[in-house]
Amino acid sequence: MATEKKEFQTEVQDLLHLMIHSLYSNKEIFLRELISNAADALDKRRFLSLSDSKLLPTGTSLRIDISVNKANKILTVEDNGIGMNKEDLESCLGTIARSGTKQFVQGLKASDKANVDLIGQFGVGFYSVFMVASKVEVLSKKAGEEQGYLWTSDGTGSYEIADMPKEATGTKISLYLKDDEDFQEFSTEWGIESIVKKYSEFVSYGIYLHHEPEKNDKGEMETKEPTRLNDKPALWRQSEKEVTEQQYKDFYATVSHEGGDPLAWKHSHAEGSQEFWSLVYIPAKAPFNIWQNEHSHGLKLYVKKVFIMDDCKDLLPTWLRFVRGVVDSEDLPLNVSREILQSNKIITTIRKHVIKNVLDTLQNVKDTDRAKYEAWWKELGAILKEGFYMNWEHLDELKKLLLFKTTKTEADKYTSLDEYVKNMPADQKEIYFLEGENKEALASSPILEAYKNKNYEVLLLSDTIDEFMMHSLSEFSGKKFHDISRGDVDFEKTDEEKKSEEASKTEFKDVCEALQKDLDVNVKEVRVSSRLKDSPCCLVTDESAMSNRMERMMAAMGQGPATKSKRILEINPTHPICKMLKEKIEKKEALEDWPKALYGQALLAEGSPLDNPAEYVKAITKLLTAKV
Ligand code: ADP
Repeated sequence: MATEKKEFQTEVQDLLHLMIHSLYSNKEIFLRELISNAADALDKRRFLSLSDSKLLPTGTSLRIDISVNKANKILTVEDNGIGMNKEDLESCLGTIARSGTKQFVQGLKASDKANVDLIGQFGVGFYSVFMVASKVEVLSKKAGEEQGYLWTSDGTGSYEIADMPKEATGTKISLYLKDDEDFQEFSTEWGIESIVKKYSEFVSYGIYLHHEPEKNDKGEMETKEPTRLNDKPALWRQSEKEVTEQQYKDFYATVSHEGGDPLAWKHSHAEGSQEFWSLVYIPAKAPFNIWQNEHSHGLKLYVKKVFIMDDCKDLLPTWLRFVRGVVDSEDLPLNVSREILQSNKIITTIRKHVIKNVLDTLQNVKDTDRAKYEAWWKELGAILKEGFYMNWEHLDELKKLLLFKTTKTEADKYTSLDEYVKNMPADQKEIYFLEGENKEALASSPILEAYKNKNYEVLLLSDTIDEFMMHSLSEFSGKKFHDISRGDVDFEKTDEEKKSEEASKTEFKDVCEALQKDLDVNVKEVRVSSRLKDSPCCLVTDESAMSNRMERMMAAMGQGPATKSKRILEINPTHPICKMLKEKIEKKEALEDWPKALYGQALLAEGSPLDNPAEYVKAITKLLTAKV
């Protein structure tokens, strides 16, 4: 076959351009990416061979071989894994399949110092070779096929594919290193050894470094046996005592493809009716695609040290999808399929164990290093809150892990439910909360005024998930949760307070009626409020009605009518505006634009969109110009 020349997909061209021209500091990670791809390919071949043992190599183990040619500056990484045929080469090394990559490329474009280290997460790790190589050759033969192919590219715009005989199944990647001082180490044995030790020590296949021939004592050229660079057993099968903190951190980089240290990890070995090992990490930062539908689940499943699958969904609930790590079972059959896993008792036991480990670990961080936990909460707390949605397990443990912004927390600080309850004044009976989209508007909502006055703390909830969470949160430590935007204020009032409330209700009856008449399309009722101190009015929701925010969310998700249930407008009888309206009514004057203005104020104060912004602006402008 003649050589075929093909263009890279545009997105790949963009990425390659950056790889070639930008000055990233940690270029060495290209080798980690190549080794990780090779290990994946070996996993895949081993997995296939479980059902067809002929697919295993004969006379050798599954392995990775690295050799350097210092004089010609060539680095070769070879594996006897699954291999790629022509279609694979085109689709894997010419296009970008995964979404999310665009963001990564944009991030890289925005700054030279952007973290190229994250490249592996985006499914484009291979292309990092063009940071160091001016030409790359990939010679590959797929398991079960006869024909080999050679893929060649210099990373500028196009690549070539040609038929090329290859004896062994697998992939051999040769990098022709750029002529740059800095890249010399990539063609030296010590350079390669130190990078492999740093990033790939626990790869479960042997990584061998081949030596260049050297003159021995007798002056003859001699080639030493290849050296195995990673001779450690699988880290998770060692006992905790044997593994250093640094090794745990390095392994995290390998399993998660994430830069930086994890928040914490838990390593355990269960024996008894079932035997398994688990090593779970809690990332300190949110993994990049964690908010997308195609997010990964993060745990790798091994059976008897044999890799079975990445991203095992059945080992973790979605609300722990940020967890990364490894589970290795002695009892599962090697040929487990995803379908079997779903209803497997062994998996159920391991899953329980893993969940408990993760929750215990989080609790431990919260108890021992609050600042660290709060920083983590900011990144990933919202995902943990999903644990309250459509889930009835582990609620007690989850409640203890929650952190909240409240009317009393300082900027950047949080309160836990334990602390909230401990700090409750003696006369406070319930846990108060208020929900809304906009953090700032929430904190200054007029609804809070009476609670602040009473020195009652109110939880402020502004995450989208909060509304769903609160449906499952009914009590904590014997105290009920109470949404203060619903119903009437129900904390105990003094006799004096009750008396003056009754008096103002009668006094402002006419004002309420007049406002109601004008705002009938918008509100269900206008009443005198006992919750307001400084603001003229606020909107509250009926005890049983769906919240305004939930209605908007359901409508946005196409899951509910776009109609709005009417709310209740409460007015403050001590406010000058309300007093002025009372006088107007007594003098039988028209209320003009005041009802519209008050209703608009109430919406804005809670951070809700106005029903009709133009009408509101017109009303306000009129009222303002009347004063000029
Ligand atoms: P990722 O490995 O994250 O999917 P890469 O850009 O590193 O992204 O690799 C793209 C794809 O190319 C891999 O998913 C794999 O299918 C294929 N590939 C890369 N290296 C090898 C290899 N040594 N053997 C077999 N397939 C490989």
